[in-house]
Amino acid sequence: MKKDLVVFIDSGDTLIDESTEIRDENGTVIHSKMFDGAKETFLKLYNEGYTIALVADGTKASFDNIYREHGLDHCFAARAISDELKQQKPAPIMFRHAMEQLGLKDSDKNRIVMIGNNLKRDIVGANRMGITSILASYSPRYNMVPECEEEIPDYVIAKPAELFDLLEQLDLQIKNKKILKLDRFK
Ligand SMILES: [Mg+2]
Repeated sequence: MKKDLVVFIDSGDTLIDESTEIRDENGTVIHSKMFDGAKETFLKLYNEGYTIALVADGTKASFDNIYREHGLDHCFAARAISDELKQQKPAPIMFRHAMEQLGLKDSDKNRIVMIGNNLKRDIVGANRMGITSILASYSPRYNMVPECEEEIPDYVIAKPAELFDLLEQLDLQIKNKKILKLDRFK
């Protein structure tokens, strides 16, 4: 069954372990490994009916290679890639572009989540957009301590596998709210 919750997700150090990346002479990623549990969780989300968008800083060529290698190319319903949009997160265009591709309006923001490892890009970007922010806190290469209010995530996951239960809860909350609203206006 299709989920109400829409999932925006970062790539590097959220799904892919950046320390494993091998790049060609142009800087394009040609090989990488996913974090333990990331692929299983991601496929489960897709198979359970979540709409998933890639919202990531990098080049199209790298992301094409990465998700082709891991067999997840078909899972993204939309892609916002910084190299194509000429701006990086937290620029609103990165989030807006994904919303537009999915036909989402401002009134849909309450059912969008952004998952990422970078406080200054992913979390600030999501918080400024008014969408739910989820910090993937397991990369050892990034600061995970917010330095100001807008870097504070709504939720934190300590490993990829935690994402599934969290998103199920959030999706249920949205469904329950919808039912309450419908009841009120009967
Ligand atoms: Mg990242």
